[in-house]
Amino acid sequence: MVGQGQERAIGIDLGTTYSCVAAWQHDRVEIIPNDQGNRTTPSYVAFTDSARLIGDAAKNQAKLSPTNIVFDSKRLVGRKFSDPTVQNDMILWPFKVIPDPTNKPVIVVTYKGEEKQFSAEEISSMVLTKMKDIAEAYLGSTVKNAVVTVPAYFNDSQRQATKDAGTIAGLNVMRIINEPTAAAIAYGLDKTAITFGEKNVLIFDLGGGTFDVSLVTIEWGAIEVKAITGDTHLGGQDFDNRMVNHLIEELKRKHDKDISRNSRAIRRLKTACERAKRTLSSTSQTTIEIESLIDGIDFSSTISRAKFDELNMDLFRKCVEQVEMCLQDGKVEKSSVHEIVLVGGSSRIPKVQQLLQELFNGKELCKSINPDEAVAYGAAVQSAMLSGEGSGRVRELVLLDVTPLSLGTDVYGDVMSVIVPRNTTIPTRREKGFTTVSDDQTSVDVKVYEGERSKASANNLLGQFLLQDIPAAPKGVAKINVCFHIDDNGIMNVSAEDEGTGVKNKITITNDKGRLSKEEIEKMIRDANKYKREDEEHKMNVEAKHALEDYAYNTRNAIRCAANIGAGDKMKMEDALESLAQWLELNELAGADDFKDKMKELERICNPITAKMYSASASGAGPSIEEVD
Ligand code: ADP
Ligand code: MG
Repeated sequence: MVGQGQERAIGIDLGTTYSCVAAWQHDRVEIIPNDQGNRTTPSYVAFTDSARLIGDAAKNQAKLSPTNIVFDSKRLVGRKFSDPTVQNDMILWPFKVIPDPTNKPVIVVTYKGEEKQFSAEEISSMVLTKMKDIAEAYLGSTVKNAVVTVPAYFNDSQRQATKDAGTIAGLNVMRIINEPTAAAIAYGLDKTAITFGEKNVLIFDLGGGTFDVSLVTIEWGAIEVKAITGDTHLGGQDFDNRMVNHLIEELKRKHDKDISRNSRAIRRLKTACERAKRTLSSTSQTTIEIESLIDGIDFSSTISRAKFDELNMDLFRKCVEQVEMCLQDGKVEKSSVHEIVLVGGSSRIPKVQQLLQELFNGKELCKSINPDEAVAYGAAVQSAMLSGEGSGRVRELVLLDVTPLSLGTDVYGDVMSVIVPRNTTIPTRREKGFTTVSDDQTSVDVKVYEGERSKASANNLLGQFLLQDIPAAPKGVAKINVCFHIDDNGIMNVSAEDEGTGVKNKITITNDKGRLSKEEIEKMIRDANKYKREDEEHKMNVEAKHALEDYAYNTRNAIRCAANIGAGDKMKMEDALESLAQWLELNELAGADDFKDKMKELERICNPITAKMYSASASGAGPSIEEVD
């Protein structure tokens, strides 16, 4: 055990709206309250003429210009300025964001009377510094090491940027772990028995501005994320806003005043509504009172839990729908879910809990750990484990992630050949064999795609490289192994090797090369379903064309090799093949039926002649490849 005065390790849940810090102390996890006595701290930084404020002090700066109150840095971290999600989020932010010369977003504020620019990592680092300070004040010792959590869908760049934020804050980030994994660890201590075999756990994380559903399986202490769904813009703030809008209307009716354009009044009303919402999670009615809200009017209103629920019912239902989608994606029946873990402050709302419980036919929900503290709790367990502070109760858990989309390469005819299916646990290493599609083909263009469409080019191109110097040979002879390797950090290496010569080439895919955001992933999955039929048609056309070309190729080879073929027969077949080649040139995009008809036509002429000849294998254009069985 590390004692007083020594460097301690902590767990930090760096949230979009609120952050939470915890540490292992007295043989258990303690959630550490901040200087205001609150167990979670707003992820807000405010810049004034005289000071930089972080946390509650920053969020409560109702008088300060909103352009100087920065929040949501988690939505920016590790992203490019041009990222569509950044562009969309920017519209809603009162603070200014501009691109730097490398297309990184930069936040512009006025601090101590001067214009200052900060990166998202810097803003996040200020929040992390605050969390570190809170822990140090409570533990009475310096804190050096930390485990910091990130959403399961964060890509490598976002994880790296979060780690950088920790470094800027003077922390040694021992490990970045997934939020749902941390929550599972928090409950793993008392609930998940190593002896029970596989357990399916649903993590329902409804926070301040984001909603994440994760399905994880736990077996022999290993936590594996099976599927993730959610909504990047759904959470407590939306519930607050519904109440705010309701009260604006009430104010209009009761006092004939419209405050919708008065930003200071709105901010004060919002703060009061958030407080009332929290109260309504434990009482059935509460009063909102704001002195001198507008034109000297003291506003007062009573709101019931039933009214609050009614105002938000559609949003609550959305949450439940996402849970159903997650189960579908993870191919797990409702009845096979062993535990449902509540995470995020908004999952304290009784109606939300009720709807979720009803979905699972009345099953008890895991809420013995405060939902808004569960992630920090798990992170603290992990930090104690890594630093050796914890006792025997803390055990090593293997942490696993999944690929959010299928990964693969294109094969002849723009068809996606999936090598790593969607939701595969990483780290992973998958290989697939391919071969050339034309005679004397000496190079292969390997394109790496991410997506669910069977038409390769409709997916997201992550990168490409050329494998050259393949010895000239008839098509189908070369054996080319393509290997996808994704490491613990989600970084992907794709290599291709010609088995015969050992000639190799590879590419490393990092975020800069265009890994997708969660929204894009969600959109691609939706599109994939939408385009499924279209894609299947494309695939069938390609297959039919391929089969026809194969047949023609084999027949041509057969004629060439055959000794005992009559000149008349030979001519007949060559004519048929020549007219087919011409037809193919003009009808490249024909449908499967046309190709099949042509095939029959050709077979009628050639089959009787080639019946006694032996045939070989496949054709196409460009340095393409095809799968080998
Ligand atoms: P984040 O989404 O940043 O990870 P949290 O999980 O802490 O943050 O969730 C914060 C949200 O939870 C806020 O919108 C807050 O108002 C809400 N919240 C906190 N406590 C309660 C409660 N008792 N009842 C309803 N909502 C709550
Ligand atoms: Mg959270």
